This record gives sequence, C-alpha cells and structure tokens, in this order.
Amino acid sequence: GFKMGIVGLPNVGKSTLFNALTKTAAAQAANFPFCTIEPNVGEVAVPDARLDTLAGIAKSKQIVPTRMTFVDIAGLVKGASKGEGLGNQFLANIRECDAIAHVLRCFEDDDVTHVDGRVNPVEDADTIETELMLADLESVEKRLAGLSRKVRGGDKEAVQQERLLQAAQAALEAGKPARSVEVSDEDARAWKLLQLLTSKPILYVCNVSEAEAATGNAHSEAVAQMAAEQGAGAVVISAQIEEEIAQLDADEAKEFLDELGLDEPGLDRLIRAGYELLGLQTYFTVGPKEARAWTIREGTTAPKAAGVIHGDFERGFIRAETTAYDDYVSLGGEQGAKDAGKMRVEGKSYVVKDGDVMHFLFNA
Ligand code: GDP
Repeated sequence: GFKMGIVGLPNVGKSTLFNALTKTAAAQAANFPFCTIEPNVGEVAVPDARLDTLAGIAKSKQIVPTRMTFVDIAGLVKGASKGEGLGNQFLANIRECDAIAHVLRCFEDDDVTHVDGRVNPVEDADTIETELMLADLESVEKRLAGLSRKVRGGDKEAVQQERLLQAAQAALEAGKPARSVEVSDEDARAWKLLQLLTSKPILYVCNVSEAEAATGNAHSEAVAQMAAEQGAGAVVISAQIEEEIAQLDADEAKEFLDELGLDEPGLDRLIRAGYELLGLQTYFTVGPKEARAWTIREGTTAPKAAGVIHGDFERGFIRAETTAYDDYVSLGGEQGAKDAGKMRVEGKSYVVKDGDVMHFLFNA
C-alpha cells in the first residue's frame, strides 16, 4: 500500500491530526479491521462512495475499502541534521514513505508555544526542508565515497548511481531539493532506490483554527502559493475539528461539519490530495462475497493491477473482464453490463482506468 509520512516542527499539530485521522477512519469503517500497527503507524480507509454503491448492486456481504498508511514521524527540529544527525529511526521511517505530508502551523494561539516564537508557515517549511536537504547531502557524500572503487572497476550500476548522486549533490549544494533534478525514464528506478528524503513529493497540510477551516487564512494562502511554485500539493485542515469529529458518530459528525460550512471531514480531503499528488487511482473487484477497492498508480496495466491483489495474478495473467464504473451502475451490475456488451475483455496491454470493475483470469 501507499504510505504518507507526517512531518513538521514540534507543536504544529502532527499528533493531534494523526490520532484524529486514525480514530475517524476506524469509526467510519466499523466492519473493517483497522489497526494502529505501531504507536506512530496507522492504516486509514480511503473513503469512496462508489464502493458502497457497487456493493449495494452486487449485494456483497463485505465491503473492503483500500487503505493508505500514515506514519507520524516526530523528531524534526531546527539543527536536527547537525551534531548527531537525524535519528536512524527517523530516517528509516521517512525513507519508506511514498510522499510526505508536511504539517504547518497556520493557527494563532498564544497558549500553544511556537518553537520560533511566531507563526510563519512558509519559513517553517523552509526550516524543515533545509534539515532534510542537509541530511540528503550528507548521505549523498557518504554514498559517493563508497562507490568510487566500483566505479573505477567499471560496474555499470555504480556508474549510473554515481551520475545520479552527483546530480543530486549539485542540486543540494545549490540549496535545492533533490526533487528539482530532472530524471529520465531510464533512470527513474535507480533514482527512486536512492530514497533521498527531498526527492519525495510533498503535500503541505495547513493546520488552521476551527473558525477558518472552511475559508483558510492569510497563512494558508501563502502556503498555497509556495506549494504552487514548488509543484507540491496543499490542503487546509483543522486538526482540532478532526479531533472533535473523531469523537462523534457519523450523523453527529455530518451535522457538526454542516455548521462549520464543510462538506466532508479533513481526512477525505487529505487522502484525495494525496491521491492527486501521487497520481493514484482506484479499481474495484465486486462479487456476492465482497466488494473491494484497490489502489494503483495512473497508467498501470492490467497484469500489474492484478499483481496488487496477488503476485500469482500478475505472473499467470491471461485477460481481464472489465466494466467501467458508470456502466456497471447504470446497467444494474455485471449481468446487465454483459448483456449490453459493456463488459470488455482486455489483454496484457490494457491500461486500467479509475473506477474500473475488474475480473482477472489467470493461470494458477
Ligand atoms: P506536534 O508536536 O506537532 O505533534 O503537536 P501536537 O499535536 O502535540 O499539538 C501541540 C499543541 O497544539 C497541543 O496542545 C494541541 O492541542 C494544539 N493544537 C493542535 N492543533 C491545533 C489547532 O488547530 N488550533 C489550536 N488552537 N491548537 C492546536
């Protein structure tokens, strides 16, 4: 599954948000076993109304949403990369993540201390980015030194790694994150394996006060502008609202959100923004036993999509019976779609579309 690491300076609302998200997710999907795997790791159901619609049509016994994992990564402060450096646990946590949700304090509250004594999310973002860039620079230099012998020996992989590390080094030394390096398709895999902290896509999460959740404020607008310049994502959320919603049942939560002028919980917005940032989409498998959602990247072919369910499905892939979500719903389900000629048989090169209802046929 896909993983989002939550980072930010101390006291910006990371833990409040993380705890609320995982609690809300657990409450919203009562029939699905959610767990907080470790104190700082939580799995969250990806809200998707289409799944309930499909389950209703197919009279599925069980509904299994797809999941996104959130990791609360504490430990970033100004100067963290100096001295003893960022902790190993911190580095390991963040390297494993597909994207970073960077929580920025956009609320004013004299009772909550800001580490730098003022609210300025754009500068805070810069502080964190600088720490991550310094950590990357250190790891790049170490790895370059470690590679030199293999490179001299003509090892092709090492030569490629060295070239990519040097590109990263040049960017970092110029004060730019590794994600500013343009990487060719041929290099994409090796680049990803370098797992540089500043190569991960960023979603800025503006934590605003309850009263400003629907509108945002001047701070969150400044963040949105910065995000646009960087090609990052940005969402406005109130951790406090999320904390309150986590205590309510679904009806109460809806009423509460209505009063605040919001049409959905922040969890939904956050996940949608994460999907957009990572280029993710959802396909479904639907039957009387269960209706289930699966996450893939845009552009994923049918065998690779099948592989998300099980490696055997990918290895033995023969073909996929595919029905578009809208056809499935308007034609009353699988049989209706089949009768109307809307259930397509697709082969290995088929690129799965968002909302496709899939049946995979494979050699065991
Ligand atoms: P972390 O250090 O980033 O994990 O921050 P916490 O989640 O522990 O929050 C730090 C403090 O800020 C706590 O006292 C929270 O109750 C408070 N806090 C978090 N979000 C908000 C918010 O949106 N508004 C206000 N006024 N306080 C908040």
